[in-house]
Amino acid sequence: MLFERQTFLVAGLSRSGTASAEYLRSKGAAVYLYDDVEDDNVLTAAKKLEELGCVYVAKSALEEKAAACDVLVLSPGIPIDHPLPVSFKRAGKRVIGEAELGVLGLRCPAVGVTGTNGKTTTVTLIEGILREAGKNAVACGNVGKPLTSCLGELGEEGIAVAEISSFQLETLSSFRPHVAVILNVTEDHINRHYTVENYRYLKAKLLKNCTESEFAVLNYDDPVTRGFAEKTKAKVIWFSLTGRVAGGYLADGWFCYQGEKVCEADDLPVGGDHNRMNALAAVCVAKLFGVSNEAISAAFKNFHGVKHRLQTVGELNGISFIDDSKATNVDSAVKAIESVKGQSVILLGGKDKGYSYEPLFDAIKSSSVVHAVIYGENAFRILNAALKRGFTGVTLCRPFDLAVRVAYLTAKPGQNVLLSPASASFDAFHSYEERGDRFAELFGLFCAEYGNKRLPAPEAEESDAESAEE
Ligand code: ADP
Repeated sequence: MLFERQTFLVAGLSRSGTASAEYLRSKGAAVYLYDDVEDDNVLTAAKKLEELGCVYVAKSALEEKAAACDVLVLSPGIPIDHPLPVSFKRAGKRVIGEAELGVLGLRCPAVGVTGTNGKTTTVTLIEGILREAGKNAVACGNVGKPLTSCLGELGEEGIAVAEISSFQLETLSSFRPHVAVILNVTEDHINRHYTVENYRYLKAKLLKNCTESEFAVLNYDDPVTRGFAEKTKAKVIWFSLTGRVAGGYLADGWFCYQGEKVCEADDLPVGGDHNRMNALAAVCVAKLFGVSNEAISAAFKNFHGVKHRLQTVGELNGISFIDDSKATNVDSAVKAIESVKGQSVILLGGKDKGYSYEPLFDAIKSSSVVHAVIYGENAFRILNAALKRGFTGVTLCRPFDLAVRVAYLTAKPGQNVLLSPASASFDAFHSYEERGDRFAELFGLFCAEYGNKRLPAPEAEESDAESAEE
């Protein structure tokens, strides 16, 4: 693309929109900026970008300016059926995302990682292993570091380890990763993609451009990703916890690859079968890049998880607070329930994404969760699912701060307060990070309030909460 001969409209001015605008200006393109929201954050971002020569477009002038633009760069937060991309497509113009811009500028090998859950954990593991082996690997994309802003750092010698979400896949068409990893596909984002089929189609899109020269690292234990093998020309490398597949697997407590013992599974300090699966996917990638077993083992030993993913915040009066705020769908919360040690009072709720919560309560019923405190915009949908599946150990309680307090007051010494909400955070927070940080902050406040004291009598717990247990 001859950037200096194109006029771009960058829609959505958060992290990826800002990175796109900066990149496009560095290439000499004409850049207009737009955001549906006109708050302080947006106006501040627009002001900074105007210093680079971008032009901010207010809502009132959008139609006229959009008609003058050649390409729309759409932020992942804006759905592909928003009137703006629809109008560009109707006019026969290109609609791309920041990831597409990044991919067009890539000059080095790339690993693409998608899946419903485990993307950030896995790209972090892969980056750690490749770096341990002395390679200039950079975790980028949806992990929080836009691809366009890493191109200089990567050059021709680096390895881009790109986390790619389904939102990004809507506007990504040129990516041909040397290694494409698909971790799992369970129900998520139905409110955005409308049907499970469409969501699966988007995940499979990561493989679309791959040929016999590329590799597809796929989860053998997940029926959806197993099915993807039939649709790709790439060479398939499997990973599995259940069988000795052609690829990465677990045998006798060892992570193995193609018949060879790579390292002990206990080298990985983070627990849970889901993390073992992430690790096996990372082993497959590492082996394709020729990394030694010693480097893989050393990188695993140094990995202590990613913030807001099953992280212990602390212990108060014998009760552990576990922050798994990034569990924003049912499957990730199920994995938390399965892997957290000891009994838990779980905190569930937030913004609804259109899927059923009933499978969550099937898992809860056969787990060591003793009680669920349900909060948030989707509280009644979750409560309904609990009652339908016959799980009555629930308390409905809003807002979030009170729900966390009630969870703490419900838990007994030796138990956990587990924030693994199975829902997005946007009903009450800007992000899952903010929700997890508030949880940690509340833990600190409770330490000051309840530390070294006897817990209050149970009657005091229920004052503002509606209990469904009665
Ligand atoms: P993503 O980037 O895909 O959202 P993360 O690594 O950030 O994935 O983890 C998100 C949530 O999913 C966390 O609650 C984490 O414990 C859980 N999780 C991580 N790996 C897996 C997996 N392979 N399968 C299911 N859940 C997972």
